[in-house]
Amino acid sequence: PLAQLKDPSLLKTDALINGEWVGGAARFDVDDPATGELLTHVANLGASEADAAVAAAQAAWPAWRAKTAKERGAILMRWYHLLIQHADDLARILTAEQGKPLAEARGEIVYGASFLEWFAEQGKRVYGETIPTTDPTKRYWVIQQPVGVCAAITPWNFPLAMITRKVAPALAAGCPVVIKPAEQTPLTALAAAELAQRAGMPAGVLNVVTGDGDQSIAIGKVLCESPAVRHLSFTGSTEVGRILMAQSAPTIKKLSLELGGNAPFLVFDDADLDSAVEGALASKYRNAGQTCVCANRFYVQDGVYDAFVTKLAEKVAALKVGNGFESGVTQGPLIDDAAIEKVERHVADATAKGARILIGGERLHDRFFQPTVLADVTSDMLCAREETFGPVAPVFRFQTEAEGIAMANGTEFGLASYFYSRDIGRIFRVGEAIESGMVGVNTGLISTAEVPFGGVKQSGLGREGGHQGIDEYLESKYLCLGDL
Ligand code: ADP
Repeated sequence: PLAQLKDPSLLKTDALINGEWVGGAARFDVDDPATGELLTHVANLGASEADAAVAAAQAAWPAWRAKTAKERGAILMRWYHLLIQHADDLARILTAEQGKPLAEARGEIVYGASFLEWFAEQGKRVYGETIPTTDPTKRYWVIQQPVGVCAAITPWNFPLAMITRKVAPALAAGCPVVIKPAEQTPLTALAAAELAQRAGMPAGVLNVVTGDGDQSIAIGKVLCESPAVRHLSFTGSTEVGRILMAQSAPTIKKLSLELGGNAPFLVFDDADLDSAVEGALASKYRNAGQTCVCANRFYVQDGVYDAFVTKLAEKVAALKVGNGFESGVTQGPLIDDAAIEKVERHVADATAKGARILIGGERLHDRFFQPTVLADVTSDMLCAREETFGPVAPVFRFQTEAEGIAMANGTEFGLASYFYSRDIGRIFRVGEAIESGMVGVNTGLISTAEVPFGGVKQSGLGREGGHQGIDEYLESKYLCLGDL
């Protein structure tokens, strides 16, 4: 699939440190999850290259922060336009290494690029404050300054967007960055870095350090432990988030963590059922169920339960599973063998405990799993507690609004949640009672660059996107002028 790029020079397999492409002594394999075939080998770097990248970023910081926000914004905007201009090639690279259907990959390129556009503008609005004095001989004011070198450790499910969502606000605020992309999907990150170079990003301001699973741990350790790195942003599992947080404790790093989701999706008796089914499809089966905001637990009120599961199963029957490069395909493969084994484990556990398979339920072949709907699901099943991260919709039944809310909140996670209701009072009650950072009301799609994305409870810390997203990369400095 990579032979057909319009601009083959976007296919980079070396890391980017201090404006130089670095091959290193070893390489690791990047596979196509749809076929298991080798795509290419990428530089397998480690702790010493991570150190070098941090040093390069530290050295680049004074000149980068000294630029005006407008100058930094101009570079980000050039990068944005290059990403859009090369969206077809970037989508091909993304589908090849990640598996999602090509149209969805293209959608991610546009979404990912939008963070650059948004923060190029937001960087110009980093306002300070003057505070009314309580002492006539003094004046108080507050300025916002960049926090310093930032590290970004990102997952494979959105190989571009998870990077730009962190890097765009950091760069706009005046911080240089060191990126450690997921070992499954380094090619999209490196292609984006190549375009950042073409956009005129100064050497050392944007660095990408690649490594396989083992080296990722070593690189991550350097990024956490380095006193020069002042902020770490991570998207991935809660388990790894805890490790990074512990490793960052000795240097008291600022942290943004976007961790596991386990999103509930509630359908009340008064919902528009067709709309709820559409929302369920969009929220559940996108990226084969591999997004942290994918609905993971469906709670449907007794009066509409049977109608909802029947309609959902009918729609799910129309989804087309296959290689993301084939036209008409709506669902690609899962990312790796462990991912598909987890899905199989959740389905087997649910059926053993009494769940009914309405559609799907089986692996088609290799890493392809049938889009699945499970009815009569109960809270003792694995899928009630763990994120399945696959194309399975387990549907639970509930009776009262209070019970629905309690079931939705019965998790240590709190990233996204969704509910369908046409009752305005209920919309306010449930919207306020639900424990999550984001709530989709009568919609299954909520992400966009202009809004704050993030979670509560063990789903993480901080917000990405929105006007809030840049605050993570700034420190407030209070100045007190006396002796007036
Ligand atoms: P997922 O379950 O989505 O694969 P992970 O949390 O395992 O998420 O991985 C997300 C990112 O964190 C990847 O870039 C991966 O290489 C990195 N990572 C995984 N384990 C560690 C670790 N111990 N230290 C630093 N980075 C890690």
